[in-house]
Amino acid sequence: MADGDLLHRFLFEDLPVRGHLVRLDASWRAAIEHQEYPRAVSEALGQALAASVLMAGSLKFEGRLSLQIEAAGPLRLLLAQCTHRHAIRGVARHRDAPAEPRDLAELCGQGQLAVTIEQEGREENYQGVVPLDMPDLSACLEQYFERSEQLPSRLLLVSTSQRAAGLLLQRVATSDTEPGPAAQDAWRRIRLLAATLSTSELLELPCRDLLRRVFPEDDIRLFAGTPVWFQCSCSRERVSGILQALGAAEVNSLLRERDDVEVRCEFCNRAWRFDAVDVAGLFSEGNRRSAPPGLH
Ligand SMILES: [Zn+2]
Repeated sequence: MADGDLLHRFLFEDLPVRGHLVRLDASWRAAIEHQEYPRAVSEALGQALAASVLMAGSLKFEGRLSLQIEAAGPLRLLLAQCTHRHAIRGVARHRDAPAEPRDLAELCGQGQLAVTIEQEGREENYQGVVPLDMPDLSACLEQYFERSEQLPSRLLLVSTSQRAAGLLLQRVATSDTEPGPAAQDAWRRIRLLAATLSTSELLELPCRDLLRRVFPEDDIRLFAGTPVWFQCSCSRERVSGILQALGAAEVNSLLRERDDVEVRCEFCNRAWRFDAVDVAGLFSEGNRRSAPPGLH
């Protein structure tokens, strides 16, 4: 398919507006290959992964950007991550989720959406949080951009079992002053035109054709796409840290039930095995490390 697994950046030559467009094909299918999510959950995860790539693409950073939903409804947890090299992975936990897609508020109930940026070599993470009180993820994230970055944005997201896609438009600041009436009108026009994009166009139209179809009167510079792929960052060292955090008593009791302790990565389904000798090594003197925070 055209533009598969590519992130494209584009600029409006005559307006203070920039954009990103992404299509996830093989990377998206690899991210859910080992999971059997109900359609509603898989759709939310695909949209979140597309959004994480668009957001990572619009920032200058080295590290990892995460979108995390924690909620009380059928969708309890959703985590979508994208690194500055555009490696993605994601996972969702759900209970009694409806088979068919419904709006986000219904799928999540009370909850929040956190955007976290972990920068390589920095202790402190950046985090911004918005409530899940909008009908869809794109509206929640537009609210996030408005509140946390004072960056007016229009976001469109779509996901099927085969493909996830997204379009992000942002009005960039040109000076310290407020945008004048002409810039405000132009932004309103761009938003309205973006709303005419159908989900099938967002999924299927080649990038250049899509931009020409939606913004026929604007001069747009489209940059070459950069690849996006699925890659998990789990490692034996990280899993060792999780077992060490569980403690010797707990891990040894797991070991008594079978010959080895197996930890399966939730993101990529890879099995990490530790036999009795490995476990003894984990808890030997001089090999006690603090557990990594949160999910590995
Ligand atoms: Zn993994």
